[in-house]
Amino acid sequence: KDSGRDGYRFYHPAMGQAASGRQRLELDLRGALARDQFELHYQPVVDARSLAITGFEALIRWTHPTRGRVPPDAFIPVAEETGLIVPVGEWVLRNACEEAARWPGDMRLAVNVSAVQLMRPGLVEGVVATLAATGLHAGRLELEITETALLRDNPAVLACLHELRGLGVRFALDDFGTGYSSLSYLRRFPLDRIKIDRSFVEAVDDPGTAAIVGAIAGLGASLGAAVTAEGVETERQLHAVRLSGCGEAQGYLFGKPLPAAEAAAFLRRKAGTKAALPGQPWDRC
Ligand code: C2E
Ligand code: MG
Ligand code: MG
Ligand code: MG
Repeated sequence: KDSGRDGYRFYHPAMGQAASGRQRLELDLRGALARDQFELHYQPVVDARSLAITGFEALIRWTHPTRGRVPPDAFIPVAEETGLIVPVGEWVLRNACEEAARWPGDMRLAVNVSAVQLMRPGLVEGVVATLAATGLHAGRLELEITETALLRDNPAVLACLHELRGLGVRFALDDFGTGYSSLSYLRRFPLDRIKIDRSFVEAVDDPGTAAIVGAIAGLGASLGAAVTAEGVETERQLHAVRLSGCGEAQGYLFGKPLPAAEAAAFLRRKAGTKAALPGQPWDRC
């Protein structure tokens, strides 16, 4: 009765709640940028052998005034459906580039870019303007895209990738191995890096999974793309992905995503330290 004419709610209360929850989320997302509720955290990426930090991936965080932390996996899809990902993505790029411009000159900045952003006109101009405004060298920026972006097989996406790459911006294929993994993407798109999804790294103790990780690393090497193992949490996993030929690694073992100031402090602490985890048994191999 309370929900008036919305009669189906009696039969499908969960459906009704989900829909209104989503509408609420959309409404809140619209205000989040204006109310300064977003923040970026930065997770280190390391060289799998020396463990030296090679860069950081910017990851968005949203603290909702009443709901608290809303994880990106919960709001990025809504932002994509509503088109809000465009202003949110611009905010992310701008803030991440400003921050990275303060890091040492060899530190890479990885920024996640949604398929929706790639398909809208104006991304190239936006990136160029942001690099100019922040003074970040194009060669330090790596945009992480997922297979869904390539799946649409949109000529505008390919043109956008080539144009940005011509300026020196690099591209990484994120979460590789999940979704509709098609090897033809690796041939058709100019990719500088393959990021092997966490689900493979998690199961790398399994010989079949280790073989797949090794094959992806080999593929990367022969295509001239760097390979990063995502979600490395244990020394065993690090050892395995390193043996499989992954050149870089990212995961809680090396560092969780940190607020900008903490990431900068982490970087200063680690600077000059060759190995973050000294005395690994395989160092003697
Ligand atoms: P992603 O780009 O694949 O980012 C890696 C995710 O794995 C992050 O989750 C990170 O916190 C998490 N992670 C890193 N190391 C480990 C580990 O060792 N163990 C485990 N269990 N998790 C680990 P997060 O920050 O929740 O982000 C989730 C996804 O949301 C990202 O996946 C990315 O697809 C998307 N996302 C995050 N920030 C942005 C953004 O600014 N723009 C866009 N378009 N998408 C974003
Ligand atoms: Mg990513
Ligand atoms: Mg990923
Ligand atoms: Mg992901």
